[in-house]
Amino acid sequence: MRKIIIAGNWKMNKTLQEAKDFLQKLSNWEKDFAHQCVIAIYPSNVFLNVALGIVKNNAVQIGAQNVYFEKSGAFTGEISPEMLSSIGCNSSLVGHSERRHIFGEDDELLNKKVKALLNNQQEVTFCIGETELQRENDETEKVLEHQLKFGLKDVPATEMRKVVLAYEPVWAIGTGKTATPAIAQEAHLFIRNWLQENYGEVVADKISILYGGSVKVANIEALIVQPDIDGALIGGASLKVEDFTEIIFLAEKNK
Ligand code: PEP
Repeated sequence: MRKIIIAGNWKMNKTLQEAKDFLQKLSNWEKDFAHQCVIAIYPSNVFLNVALGIVKNNAVQIGAQNVYFEKSGAFTGEISPEMLSSIGCNSSLVGHSERRHIFGEDDELLNKKVKALLNNQQEVTFCIGETELQRENDETEKVLEHQLKFGLKDVPATEMRKVVLAYEPVWAIGTGKTATPAIAQEAHLFIRNWLQENYGEVVADKISILYGGSVKVANIEALIVQPDIDGALIGGASLKVEDFTEIIFLAEKNK
């Protein structure tokens, strides 16, 4: 049985008070709601410490949206896996399409980040996905294969238990255009088959593959029932606690 994960990526949103209010409400809700799924929030780095304090006594996980691969030194503005560990934060996103496309992060850099986190006993949610043009040109599988091959280069099978994958088609992120459940399932199956070929059946079977791209209350049910969709990475709809908790409820009910 794979872990079902519902994760909220807040991106560059919320003030301190808004973050606190949300997490307090989510924590109270979570305590009363018997669930199997993992609930995770990726707030801005400046709120990580406060967020960890609020969720301390419940099952909400807090992760970073981004991290650098070096341990310490002259890297102004960056944070390291060691810094995350030192505050009790044990996971990070890597390879989100905004990091790839707005900040120009390439496969080599992303691979260094993945390995730095894993070497630090951190979990990684590694994001991959094709652009609209790549899909139109029928390059989706080639792009996913490339991102997996180079992003996970030199990551041994033994480390894959700390990796979660997120399939996030770039054309569906923040656009309101969701991949149809069939399109998403097809990509997830491709990813799982790639894992099987490169890491074997046990890893492929165990790894959670999340879908991301305009997930909301109205479409989570149709997505989560797909056999290879093991959860969701949610941007916009994770900003309102009522929407986010409803998505968790519906995912839990339908999986
Ligand atoms: C994301 O940021 O990972 C994302 C999928 O955003 P949205 O849900 O807003 O499309």
